[in-house]
Amino acid sequence: MPQLGFGVWQVPDDEAEQAVSTALEAGYRSIDTAAIYGNEEGTGKAIAASGIPRQDVFVTTKLWNADQGYDTTLRAFDESLAKLGLDYVDLYLIHWPLPARNKYVDSYKAFEKLHTDGRVKAIGVSNFLPEHLRRLIGETSIVPAVNQIELHPHLQQRVSRELHAEQGIATEAWSPLGQGKGLLEVPAIVAIAQKHHRTPAQVVLRWHLQLGNVVIPKSVTPSRIRENIDVFDFSLDDEDLAAISALNEDRRIGPDPATFDVA
Ligand code: NAD
Repeated sequence: MPQLGFGVWQVPDDEAEQAVSTALEAGYRSIDTAAIYGNEEGTGKAIAASGIPRQDVFVTTKLWNADQGYDTTLRAFDESLAKLGLDYVDLYLIHWPLPARNKYVDSYKAFEKLHTDGRVKAIGVSNFLPEHLRRLIGETSIVPAVNQIELHPHLQQRVSRELHAEQGIATEAWSPLGQGKGLLEVPAIVAIAQKHHRTPAQVVLRWHLQLGNVVIPKSVTPSRIRENIDVFDFSLDDEDLAAISALNEDRRIGPDPATFDVA
């Protein structure tokens, strides 16, 4: 899985084709969509139109909450695949654990079947807290390849990252730029950006990469799409990394997975 990919949350289907095309032209080879984003069709069209061989693009989509359960998961997957216009996806994720509904183990067993059938190359989860991961690992056969969680300098997720490292699960950061709000104006980040003649967004992405996180920044602005992947020719030093790591506030932008229950 490429360590840096392109996220398309909140990109309407009719704009997704253009945004994903721009991203593929800029060199991105991993795209993160989800059934609930409503843009699997636009995403799939851009991949088809790019002419890039299928095996060179890593496509992630996610099972929406309303479709959790064994049979409903299999049906939802068929729909996602049809919308994407693909015959397999590289990574399929359970979007949220919804612990009160108690269906994520059954949903994941359907994921294991899709994996065995070769229609999904890797299976994983999103927004799983350590307690959900431990239960899942205890009750199923395949350790999730990935846990995609909210992660940025204000929410560094040290406990989850440690568990992932122990279990061999890749940590994928959603909202890696903190949704572009406040975070990119934090003085410590701006100062590091000036020191390296880079932008604050590039510094934050570099911090993630050097920590070992997979990142999927989103933008619909072509110059920013290109800026966000132009992060492989400089490095932060230990002092920079420590200054960013000192910004942790354990502060979420998104919902708490323990209680989030929208379907
Ligand atoms: P993000 O942290 O990637 O921030 C995106 C916003 O930051 C943009 O809309 C723009 O306003 C700004 N931005 C982007 N590049 C910039 C730049 N170079 N300079 C200045 N501002 C810039 O936030 P996100 O979209 O929430 O997260 C990224 C992806 O993560 C999503 O598109 C989606 O694929 C995924 N995601 C997953 C979940 C989940 O529950 N699994 C939840 C949210 C997001």
